This record gives sequence, structure tokens and C-alpha cells, in this order.
Amino acid sequence: MTKYTIALLEGDGIGPEISAASVGVLGALKGRFGISFEVRKVPAGDRCKAEMGEALPDSSISAIKESDACFKAPVGDTAAETIVRLRQMLNLYANIRPSKTLPHVPSLKPAIDFIIVRENTECLYRGMEFEFDGGVVALRTITRRASARIAAYAFELAEHRRSKEVVAVHKSNVLRKSDGLFAQVCREVSAQHPRVSFSEMLVDSAAMNLIRMPEKFDVIVTTNMYGDILSDEAAQLVGGLGVAPSANIGENFAIFEPVHGAAPDIAGKGQANPIAMVLTSCMMLDWLSQTHKDTSCAEAAAAIRGAVDRALESGIKTSDLGGVSTTAEVGAAIAKLVAQ
Ligand code: ATP
Repeated sequence: MTKYTIALLEGDGIGPEISAASVGVLGALKGRFGISFEVRKVPAGDRCKAEMGEALPDSSISAIKESDACFKAPVGDTAAETIVRLRQMLNLYANIRPSKTLPHVPSLKPAIDFIIVRENTECLYRGMEFEFDGGVVALRTITRRASARIAAYAFELAEHRRSKEVVAVHKSNVLRKSDGLFAQVCREVSAQHPRVSFSEMLVDSAAMNLIRMPEKFDVIVTTNMYGDILSDEAAQLVGGLGVAPSANIGENFAIFEPVHGAAPDIAGKGQANPIAMVLTSCMMLDWLSQTHKDTSCAEAAAAIRGAVDRALESGIKTSDLGGVSTTAEVGAAIAKLVAQ
């Protein structure tokens, strides 16, 4: 039996509810596939700041570093102090956001299946804002090193997909130097991947084409802020934020979190859809499978995805998908199907 230690950040708003449902699903794997999980709750986020004076105390950073992977629910107003800081501190340079049509969930087109690969460490997210001449200047950094690293990740990913197509999304007609560098580096990396077809698209066209012909996309590689915005749009194409998973991946560590935020408007009401976080756990299992060369984890991920499909098929859905089930009911139904 292989045991993995998972650092769980329960987050704020709907975070604790969807965390409980998702951990219940992971618990249902016990005794199956020869794997088990020790889930350690790690304080972080708004509640942690109120109680401990810091959104991300050193003790939490140590606990995260000691784990095999970090499973994170959304935090509220302290996102910059927690996840943005963790991404930079742990050098989690690739933010992976898949958009795939789920059976029994309304989708803009029937066969959407693409992945946004978002650069995760630079762009406008370095927090370099300065007061200047009665206003504010925000600095956007684009480096050759970070652009080459994210482009390489996107092309490697595409190599293993059926369509093998990468589109680099940028705005180099206006941001000639910064996005010009990103586009140039993507072109250079594309030359090392002759089996992958490569194209470029301006970010405004990409926003339009994701609605017009989402089924044509395979792998999108882009800078941090464009990726943030386009991935919320992409989530909406296939059922909304309630079913959108994501991963922050580095050389040696990764943090897995749903795309959505803490959703204070529905917190504590049992309305939050836990499927985004449950599918996020599948991305974590796939990553553990790759990094630990443990096929059991990939089998477990497939079992959870199958259980999600069957739960949806039987109409067990939260209200965002037109159902009447609560967060806990959806989680329990998926866990039961996993255990069968
Ligand atoms: P952030 O800026 O932190 O990403 P946001 O402002 O984009 O947050 P979210 O918290 O992601 O906002 O919520 C956006 C909308 O989507 C809200 O109306 C919220 O209720 C809904 N939503 C988000 N997550 C879920 C979920 N898991 N289930 C159901 N509805 C959700």
C-alpha cells in the first residue's frame, strides 16, 4: 500500500464545503488500487489571517513543502498573499486548465477538449505597482526564460495529445516588446517539435474564437493574465466554474486547485458544486502517477472521473447545473460510486 501525504488548504467561502466533499471521495479510494492518503489540514487564507495574523504562516509553508502534493480550495481576499505567493515561491510555473465537455452537462459544442497552459510566475502578477504622477504604474514582466519554459511545457503536452496543435495567444501587435518576446520564443520552441502544428492568435481573437469554434482548440499557451481571463471563459463553455479543475505545476512540486474563487455569494448554503475540486483531485492523482511512476494513481483518477460521469448521469447535480442536490449529497454520491 503506497501512502501519499496531501497538504489540504480548506480555503474560505465555499472552500471548506467542497474540501469535505472532495476528501470524502479520496477516502473512498481506501483499500482500492493499493494507495491511501494522509490528508493534513494546513491553515492558509482569510480565516488563517484573522486567527494567526498571517494568510500564509511559515509553519504552513513547511507543512506544504513536506507533503507529496498540495490540494487547495479557493481562498478569499488573501489570494495574492497565499496562492500567488506559493506559485512564485515554489516556482510552479505552469498553470494547467483543461476544458472538456462532460457527459450530461450542457456544453456550448458537443466535443470541446482543449487545455490552457498559462504562464504562472510573471506578467502583471508580480505585484509591482507604483504611484506615479498622481496615478499608478503596474509593471508587466515577460522574460525569455519563463516564456521558453512554459512553451516547452505546452509542446510536450501537445506531443501526447491526439490533435498535436499549439496556439500561442498574445497581443504582440500592441505590446511589441513584451508579447513580441513571448511570441518569438514560442516560435523558437515550436521548431524543436516538428510533429506539433503551431499557430498564433491575438488574445481578442482568441476570446471570440473560444465562443465561435471552441472545438477547434487543442493546447493554448499564453501569458499569466490572458490565461487567467480566458480560462474563466473556457470553463463556461463546458458547464461553468463548478466543473473546472486546474493544476499549478513546477519541477518538483505541484498545487492543485479548482479554477473558481471562494464564491462568498453561495458560501455555507450547501449549493457549491464540488465537482471542480473532485476533478482537480484527478489531476493531482495523474501527476502523482507520473512523478512517482505509480499507475495505481492514474487508475484511481480514472475511477473518480467515471464516478463523476455516473453521478451526473443519474441526475445528482447542484443548482449551477440545473439540479437540486447539495454539495454534500453530490460528494457522497461520487464517493459511493468510487467505492463500488
Ligand atoms: P476569484 O476572483 O477569486 O477567482 P471570482 O470573483 O471569479 O473569484 P468566484 O468566486 O469564482 O468569483 O465565483 C464567480 C461566480 O461563480 C459566483 O456567482 C459563484 O457563485 C459561482 N461559482 C463559483 N464556484 C462555484 C461552484 N463550485 N459551484 C457553484 N457556483 C460557483
